[in-house]
Amino acid sequence: MEFVDQNPIGKSSRSNPATYLKAYDEIRKLMAAQQASKINGYKASHFSFNIDGGRCEECLGEGTVKVEMQFMADIVLTCESCHGKRFKNDILDVKYKGNNIHDILEMTIEQAIEFFASDATNTEKRIVNKLQPLADVGLGYIKMGQSSSTLSGGESQRVKLASFLAKEKNEPTLFIFDEPTTGLHFNDIKKLLKAFDALIKKGHSLVIVEHNMEIIKSADWVIDLGPEGGDKGGYLVFEGKPEDLVNVDASYTARFLKPYLQ
Ligand SMILES: [Zn+2]
Repeated sequence: MEFVDQNPIGKSSRSNPATYLKAYDEIRKLMAAQQASKINGYKASHFSFNIDGGRCEECLGEGTVKVEMQFMADIVLTCESCHGKRFKNDILDVKYKGNNIHDILEMTIEQAIEFFASDATNTEKRIVNKLQPLADVGLGYIKMGQSSSTLSGGESQRVKLASFLAKEKNEPTLFIFDEPTTGLHFNDIKKLLKAFDALIKKGHSLVIVEHNMEIIKSADWVIDLGPEGGDKGGYLVFEGKPEDLVNVDASYTARFLKPYLQ
């Protein structure tokens, strides 16, 4: 059983969706396997922004530096040493199909999938397989190197869902969501529904506690508790398909759901 919330996926500002899904580990290996890396003795660790070696020493691989201000919010500036490219020049000279590690981190998830899919060796296939779930949950527009701390709650939630889709061993799991649409815009709700569909296709089951009609109308089975809140609620008002729920007079949900099913 898994509980998936909207909390941030990583505390480090250097974590991003590609590192969370472990696609970045494979990309670092790929870069270390290039001719220029072999000649210079660069290992996969040189392409990490979490440890010293290849990362910019000035900004420690962040690409930005924070200037602390008195009486004002901190100011974030592009690092003058690496010009926001996060790595040392020698490391940036290593290229795979004409792109260095910074170029790859600047790609969107969708662009990266296309970029790596054009070569069919095992490493590239592994990278694509690890990135694909992010596209499947509607996050294809996010940049590979985008800091996790800049993701919205809804985006963080979908990154977590993607990590479940990416799992190689996929035992059927029961996912429980407590009002997953809280704070989400209509467009994000549509993407969340797409992510739910992807989980169901993988053989998982979802139980969602929700007031949002877009979600309720998409359910296979609705358990409507009521009729009121608090002491006057908690009774089973209806159980069944959304199309049948709208005909139940005693249900408030039915009244609100009706326009969504017309
Ligand atoms: Zn720097």
